[in-house]
Amino acid sequence: MEENERAGRCVVAVDGPSGSGKSTVSRRLAVGIGARYLDTGAMYRAVTWAVLRSGVDLTDAESVAKVAGEVDLRIGTDPQGYGVTADGVTVDAEIRGPEVTGAVSAVAAVPAVRVLLVTRQREMIADAGRIVVEGRDIGSVVAPDADLKVYLTASEAARAARRSAEDATDVAATAADLARRDRLDSTRKADPLTQAADAVVLDTTELGIDEVVARLRDLLIDRGVA
Ligand code: C5P
Repeated sequence: MEENERAGRCVVAVDGPSGSGKSTVSRRLAVGIGARYLDTGAMYRAVTWAVLRSGVDLTDAESVAKVAGEVDLRIGTDPQGYGVTADGVTVDAEIRGPEVTGAVSAVAAVPAVRVLLVTRQREMIADAGRIVVEGRDIGSVVAPDADLKVYLTASEAARAARRSAEDATDVAATAADLARRDRLDSTRKADPLTQAADAVVLDTTELGIDEVVARLRDLLIDRGVA
């Protein structure tokens, strides 16, 4: 890569459990620094949509991986509005529904699915050059050389309250679902949710979104990449 191409490069990895504020923070930060944005959770969700549509058994890792390998998955990287399609079908709404949310952690635990998606994610990061990427394994696996790694957390109560406000669902049911998903995501063998050793940890329980975004921008300025 030429020096001038490298000059504008800025990769920010944002990891953390569900409801920690990753999506809102990542999108706003991307807009603020003029970067692209990649929602890797949406990619796992879109593959899960395809797996559910195919009717294969979720516990049959080989068949799940086959569907993942065959689906034509496309995702935009515009932080102000990205679309997700699977085999030409727009799935933005469906991938946020209860069926996909209930099945996604099982699909994301299949090692061959992760290999496929991590490869795609690395290609998209290389193409964009300047990008904020959110997920569970971005700082640890997808982009270990990121310019800034952030790990967002929040109390279980705050995370459940945020998610249930977004989805208009019952707080207790949302809390139970988040706890189930976090347990699966943190304990799976392949690329579990982890805090990279060199990640900046921010607890967003008491912080407003603007405050979190401002802190991250300051960190990027300190590092000379924003
Ligand atoms: O971020 P979001 O809640 O949309 O992610 C949905 C699911 O996708 C997570 O619960 C997790 O199982 C999976 N995921 C993952 N690795 C990522 C992003 C998401 O395993 N990098």
